[in-house]
Amino acid sequence: MTADTPRQIVHLETLIAALPGAEREIFDRIFHLQVSTGRLTIPASMHGWVEERFGDVEAVRTQRVIKVTNLITLEGALFNPLRGVRPIDLEPDEQVLVAIERTRGGPFCHPESLTPEDDFGRVRGKHCMTASNVARYDGYHGLVIFDGHNPLHITAERVHDYIDTALRWAKRAHNADAEAKYFFLMWNCLWKGGASIVHGHMQVTLGRGMHYARVEHWRRQALLYRLAHGENYFDDLYRAHSALGLATTLGQTRVIVSLTPVKEREILLISPTRWVDNDDFKDAISLVLLKYIHGLGVQSFNLVLFQRPIDAVEEDWDGFPAIVRIVDRGDLQVRTADIGCMELYGSSVISSDPFGVMEVVVAPDRTFGPQGRG
Ligand SMILES: [Zn+2]
Repeated sequence: MTADTPRQIVHLETLIAALPGAEREIFDRIFHLQVSTGRLTIPASMHGWVEERFGDVEAVRTQRVIKVTNLITLEGALFNPLRGVRPIDLEPDEQVLVAIERTRGGPFCHPESLTPEDDFGRVRGKHCMTASNVARYDGYHGLVIFDGHNPLHITAERVHDYIDTALRWAKRAHNADAEAKYFFLMWNCLWKGGASIVHGHMQVTLGRGMHYARVEHWRRQALLYRLAHGENYFDDLYRAHSALGLATTLGQTRVIVSLTPVKEREILLISPTRWVDNDDFKDAISLVLLKYIHGLGVQSFNLVLFQRPIDAVEEDWDGFPAIVRIVDRGDLQVRTADIGCMELYGSSVISSDPFGVMEVVVAPDRTFGPQGRG
């Protein structure tokens, strides 16, 4: 029975039941699973609309919702693949490109003259330079401004350069303030991802005292996990996903398509070292971004780095790897926000199938390889 079970999120319960004992134990240690069936009555007058919208009246009449909760981090997702029944364009459509082009010529197209610099000056890469953020949310808050306007123009060489430049910025900021040790790298890509400026850019902060709340939460929970089970939480998280076919490696980098995504198609990349500054890791980040854009049709996303402080601190970061999280923020032409009450205060409602995302991640792709470097 189980050998024939399609690898789809609606069949998660069956797939888990088929796991070998050790993997099953790890899964149950980290996750709670609840499958609910919702039934509704559809008046005949609605059948035409339902068929047009979802393809099948029966599929709407009886809906399965897969509720997954991570018991360690208490992050949760409610999967209802029916919500994802919509055509996906693999390339940004004309109107989106027009909207991006319309903003060409703004301050980030002329960063030398139209953006402020940090008190330690600018850091220059081959394809980007840093600026100081005008409206900051931490003591050191910079921008890595790309030399290309359209943020969807991504190559591995560029991604390496942006990250390297961000790291050099962090060193300069740390030299200016030895107490600032908590580096955070983030990339809000386009307006659905919260970017107020279209022109390609990342943001960097270097904070004091403790890391940002969600990073600190992961550190504490991973620490408690190790105390309770004697294992590294991130190793076990990888094993649980891998046993189900939701994790793989790109080079030495571990790639997980999350079972409790913060929103659609969330992917976690785990560095083979404790740091983001690793060529293999940067290659994997680039490749996943290329697959995100060209394989999954993602136009707007958030990318963040969870990493231990760059200098010695009191609290225990042992076993905490460098992790990049990437999430799809939805269609640039849709006016509604992709998050609401559920995502802010409940569990995230997800319409994409992690198994479908995984197929794209592992698909051999000649177009992008070897990672478009050089
Ligand atoms: Zn620009």
